[in-house]
Amino acid sequence: MEKVITTCPYCGSGCSYFLCVEDGKVIGVAPNRVHPISKGRLCVKGWNAHEFVHHPGRLTKPLIRKGGNLVEASWDEALDMVANRLKGIKEKSGSDSIGVLSSAKCTNEENFVMMKFARAVIGTNNVDHCARLCHASTVAGLARAFGSGAMTNSIDELEHADVILVTGSNTIEQHPLIAVRILKAVRDHGAKLILVDPRSIQLSKFAVIHAKHKPGTDVAWINGVMNVIINEGLADEEFIKTRTEGFEEMKKLVMDYTPEKVEEITTIPADTIREIARTYARASAASIVYSMGITQHTTGTDNVLSCANLAMITGNVGKPSTGVNPLRGQNNVQGACDLGALPVVYSGYQSVADENVRKKFSEAWGAEMPSAPGLTVVEMVNAAADGKLKGLYIMGENPMLSDPDLSHVKEGLEKLEFLVVQDIFLTETAELADVVLPAESYAEKTGTFTNTERRVQLVNKAVEAPGEARPDWDIVSDVARRMGYDMKYNSAEDIMTEINKLTPSYTGITYQRIRENWGLAWPCPTLDHPGTPYLHKDKFTRGLGSFHAVPFKPPAEETDDEYPFILSTGRMLEHFHTGTMTRRSDTLDREVPKGFIEMNPKDADAIGVRNNWPVRVTTRRGSVVTTARVTDGIPEKMLFMPFHFREAAANMLTNPALDPIAKIPEFKVCAATVEGVQ
Ligand code: SF4
Repeated sequence: MEKVITTCPYCGSGCSYFLCVEDGKVIGVAPNRVHPISKGRLCVKGWNAHEFVHHPGRLTKPLIRKGGNLVEASWDEALDMVANRLKGIKEKSGSDSIGVLSSAKCTNEENFVMMKFARAVIGTNNVDHCARLCHASTVAGLARAFGSGAMTNSIDELEHADVILVTGSNTIEQHPLIAVRILKAVRDHGAKLILVDPRSIQLSKFAVIHAKHKPGTDVAWINGVMNVIINEGLADEEFIKTRTEGFEEMKKLVMDYTPEKVEEITTIPADTIREIARTYARASAASIVYSMGITQHTTGTDNVLSCANLAMITGNVGKPSTGVNPLRGQNNVQGACDLGALPVVYSGYQSVADENVRKKFSEAWGAEMPSAPGLTVVEMVNAAADGKLKGLYIMGENPMLSDPDLSHVKEGLEKLEFLVVQDIFLTETAELADVVLPAESYAEKTGTFTNTERRVQLVNKAVEAPGEARPDWDIVSDVARRMGYDMKYNSAEDIMTEINKLTPSYTGITYQRIRENWGLAWPCPTLDHPGTPYLHKDKFTRGLGSFHAVPFKPPAEETDDEYPFILSTGRMLEHFHTGTMTRRSDTLDREVPKGFIEMNPKDADAIGVRNNWPVRVTTRRGSVVTTARVTDGIPEKMLFMPFHFREAAANMLTNPALDPIAKIPEFKVCAATVEGVQ
């Protein structure tokens, strides 16, 4: 048996393990005891991350729609069709009538190639990926406050914080190996855990304070905590004076948010607000950990800015075991952002609005660079529904389950003149495509993923791909050549060499160095730079840290007599994202074979429903029938639904209203009603 070391393809923790290979098949997973994050441990998804690789449903040949059906075709036929149709649309309707969705599941190299394809070959900045749906507000908010939209500190440092404030993150379920560090800090080092979350979650029993707030009121409780910190003299005045700007304006606004007023908005008792403020501000090293409970709101950017305010007011940035630490959902969502699969930046967050940056990429790629900002994920769907977007090239994304308001998504995708989907399975989105291109899974290719703490790590080829599947970068390059653009790489490492040249924060990150060091955390500007475990040490990336005065705004949709419940959506331990991989893993699918909705026993009683009974959930977007999971872990008049299940698709129900800055939809709050089904 051969053992090939690689990086987990599920969450952003970035665990490492060996794929065990026998007779050309991956037969299991063995943990890597010396890896700095996983340290010999894995969660249930990691232990079973080999199961989908040889699933009989893997795509093995290109498919072309003929007579309404998808039928097998040769690579030449399929790629010529993709190139000719995209070329035709570009000539007839212009470059901006085409969009490209890149992928947080694909490697850094593939994301780089895809964003280059959009800009240099198609000539548009219409390139985005599912970070828009999870952490776009993190990128926007932290860039505004600190100058860098990424986790400020490393996973390792969590273990040594005095206080860890977790909000909007069900860490034990979503990032289990990061949760291990939080629990180690609490149990072995006496750290105090503050949890702010509407539901009782597994972390609750380890928290010294668990404040259950009304969903969508994060800005209010954070302003309330800062009000107490200022009024009780707990702010770090030296840090505020020497390292930040904008404090006075923020202070003026925060003075209105007394704990009593905040209690009215959030339902968190005023004394609990005081307790959070005192516990957090008195720590010598306090770390904020958050995830999509903070970001997936129409006020997502405001929420992130508020977290940044809280860290800066107490001087908890730029030091070990402190900072603002967004836990990124997908294995390579950090990398897809870093490599410029976004409509306003190239790799390394170099702005498309900057003429010098455009000139640099124009010269490197031999093509005129577009200057207009591109469309985001949801905007592309809207433009398709309006008939303005005519062609869409999707690599490894599944908007037919991941995007809000799925009926509208379907309408948009069906209106396109041409849809090409490149993936490892025939996803719900691929079923609608004109051409489907079979790609390699993580076990069949080499490349890099960047985890949530900015650590760039290797993925190594362990087995051959099934049938005729090819690496994503190779397929995209082939389409580019057929469209008349000379894009040629010999390997993923070849692409990394180009990334090194064009991306200052990745300049020192080579395959050899990451092989020797268990990865390197960017910024890594030179070949002898050791990488950067924590950011903003003596100076913020933007110079001074910027406070923002953030007033509380309610969610886009509030409850009323017709829709009296707040519906929130999210993930669970055993499944991942749209279930494309985990629902094709026997072990994981056996653990949780179907979707459900959590509801409080009093609400279940009121509608005459018991645990495991069928219920119909309805919002202004649609209805879904699923199974009630009755639990007092969820407050009255709140519902929670995981979004992994196509037969009970939570995103049939969610609100596509967007954060005005980050354009992230409000997945975490919408108004709903629920009834029993006979
Ligand atoms: Fe994979 Fe995340 Fe589980 Fe680690 S914690 S094994 S990266 S899913």
